[in-house]
Amino acid sequence: MPGFEIFGDEERKEVQEVLETGVLFRYGFDQARKGRWKAKSFEAELSERIGVKHCLLCSNGTAALSIALAACGIGAGDEVIIPPFTFIATAEAVLAAGAVPVFGDIDETLCLDPDSIESVISPRTKAVLPVHMCGAMARIDRLKAVCEQNGLKMIEDACQSLGGTFNGKALGTFGQTGCFSFDPVKTVTCGEGGAIITDDPNLYRIAEAYSDHGHDHIGNDRGLEGHAILGSNFRISELNAAVGLAQLRKLDIMLEKQRLHKKALKDALAQFPDITFRKLPDEKGDTATFLCFFMPDEALARKVTKDLAAAGVDGCFYWYANKWHYIRQWDHLKSLRAAARLPIELIENRPDYSRIHLPKSDSILSRAVSMLIKLSWTPEELDRRIAKIINVIRSI
Ligand SMILES: *Cc1c(COP(=O)(O)O)cnc(C)c1O
Repeated sequence: MPGFEIFGDEERKEVQEVLETGVLFRYGFDQARKGRWKAKSFEAELSERIGVKHCLLCSNGTAALSIALAACGIGAGDEVIIPPFTFIATAEAVLAAGAVPVFGDIDETLCLDPDSIESVISPRTKAVLPVHMCGAMARIDRLKAVCEQNGLKMIEDACQSLGGTFNGKALGTFGQTGCFSFDPVKTVTCGEGGAIITDDPNLYRIAEAYSDHGHDHIGNDRGLEGHAILGSNFRISELNAAVGLAQLRKLDIMLEKQRLHKKALKDALAQFPDITFRKLPDEKGDTATFLCFFMPDEALARKVTKDLAAAGVDGCFYWYANKWHYIRQWDHLKSLRAAARLPIELIENRPDYSRIHLPKSDSILSRAVSMLIKLSWTPEELDRRIAKIINVIRSI
């Protein structure tokens, strides 16, 4: 999964070019920067790669979600439907907007179940925020249809699925806007970075201004720029963008390697009739950062995860017990434990997260085991890994 595995001379060269000019800021300083625009170049190359009109780089994936929510006009008291299996950042961004996260269920894609949405829509629902988890897609066509039928916006959290597609169309391009993360463990990394993409020029304009204190970026005198809106600072630096630019150019190589490694592992597991695989609405569009499979029950899933680790098979995750990715273990969210009073606490009839009960999601995730796919495995390492895995599963 992580681009840091193939960090090399290309990244060093891009960073060196920035250091030579000393211009670390992504805007202005036209003379001093000698034509070097790393953030702008990254945006242009990512737009081209994904097939969208606009891309805005920002400081991280959580910032991308905040910018997307703001640009979609989502704020105080609005409800946003999100999945319970994601990274906590999805919920944090909604709360930071002053909005209310409302949880749908996941299905066997491990992503938001389109059939779980209508039962949680209320008059305050403004948007659905599906997450393409572990490198692969939600049933995004169905999710889009449900959003359209109900007049809701759709923001895709594609932070874990850069380069993924559904029926040939890039993940992140199905709703009004899509978000990516380039944090240290994502497929493409900037160290810290994120992006939002959109085809809507108006949404892009708001996003761009919002991420830089509302500045309209018109004219050459920064101090005399206009402000249509208030904003904040979610800018990326040229140094981070430079790393990402070199990484982005390696995306296809990374996807190819991951797919090859994943296929070998999946073929090996396919001989076991008790194992079923995560549903992929379009297998061709999977970025193959993870192989996710289901055991017949929770006890077996826990046992397999434990035995794999004991056998030295690293990078296996049992998300149901993991504290980062599933609502069951988010005690701080359930009690709204924050540094200061949250806007949601002013809202009457807010959901009581301490009572949240999602038996369908529990029954799916409690059986799921995920294996991280690495880029750097040699063919011999991969063979040894497969041999160990087969041994473990035979003895279950
Ligand atoms: C990584 C991630 C984020 C947040 O990205 P950061 O760059 O770490 O802020 C948001 N959502 C999901 C699903 C992620 O995996």
